[in-house]
This record gives sequence, C-alpha cells and structure tokens, in this order.
Amino acid sequence: MRIIGCRECDAVVVEPFVPDGGAAYCDRCGGLLFRRHSRTIEVCFALVVAAAILFAVANLYPFLAFQMQGQTTRTTLVSGTRALLDQGENAVAALVFLTTIASPACEIGLLLYVLAPVHFGVRLPGLALAFRFVEQFRPWSMMEVFLIGILVAGVKLADLAEIVPGIALYAFGLLIPILAAASNFLDAELVWRRIAGEP
Ligand SMILES: [Zn+2]
Repeated sequence: MRIIGCRECDAVVVEPFVPDGGAAYCDRCGGLLFRRHSRTIEVCFALVVAAAILFAVANLYPFLAFQMQGQTTRTTLVSGTRALLDQGENAVAALVFLTTIASPACEIGLLLYVLAPVHFGVRLPGLALAFRFVEQFRPWSMMEVFLIGILVAGVKLADLAEIVPGIALYAFGLLIPILAAASNFLDAELVWRRIAGEP
C-alpha cells in the first residue's frame, strides 16, 4: 500500500491500481493524480537518448553561417556566449550559457543517469537525488526562447548578409519538441517506485 498526495487539493489517498494507459483521479476534487502510460520508461528513455544525440550535434556543429562580401562567419552555441563575453556583457553571457547549454545538459544528463539504470534494472547510487535535481533544472531550460531570438535576429540580418542555417539549428529545433515529449511521458510516480526497488 502506498500513500500519495493530490497536487491540486493536498488530499492524502491510497494509491489505486491503474492499468497501463489509464489514469487516476482525486476523489475529493477530481484532479488528475497520475497517468499510467504504457511502456512509459522505455519511451522516455528512447526520447532522452535521442535528445542527448541532438544536443551533442547542436553544440558541436555550426548554428548559423553569415556570408558577407565573400567572407563566411560560422557561429556555434559556445561561440555566441564567448562573443557576448568579449563585448563585456558578462551577465547576459552567463544567462545564455545557463539557459541554453548548462541547464539542458544537466537535465538530459541527469535523466539519462536515472532512466538508464531504471530501464535496465541496475542499481546505481544517488538515483533519488539525481531525479530530484531534474525537476530543479527544468525551469532554467529556455532553449525555445533562444531559438525564437535567433530566428528574429536572422530575419532582421537577412538584408545585410546571406544567412545559411547550420545543422546545429535543425538539431536544436528538433531537440525542443523531443525534450518536451520526454518530460510529458515521464511518469514520475513510476520512476520513484522503480528507484525504491518496487515493480
Ligand atoms: Zn484533490
């Protein structure tokens, strides 16, 4: 028997049995207690592996190339942060680094660290702590804001220079919905149960 709390009204209830694909609702307020997707850990793990590959591509390859008067300038995610530092915009550089590189890297890395052992049935130290941190990093991940900023800047610069989208831009564009899908599929209750060694 497991006791869980309703996130909407704080009611404390005994966790009901829910088959794959079903959902449990609160008796008192009708709010969603949890949803049991089928094969949720497998799907989530696959999405996070895809996200990790896309994140590596987004960081290693050029984001945009500017062609002006026969000269080509390529930018990557890190070179954008470095350019801001060179211009003395230290606070902006730190924010861009935190929201587009550090937070997504921590979120993806921690999710892989938690989901891989849970998926393969291996026990690793610090799983509970790592899973708790995942929730802490998510609000700081603002890749979509960054992508919109890049697109707006690209449109404005289109008259001055020829802009060639790089492979990293496509990887970044794919990464955002894939990471959103992974967090949507993530059944936190089930992961907590597996971390505790329950089936
Ligand atoms: Zn409730």
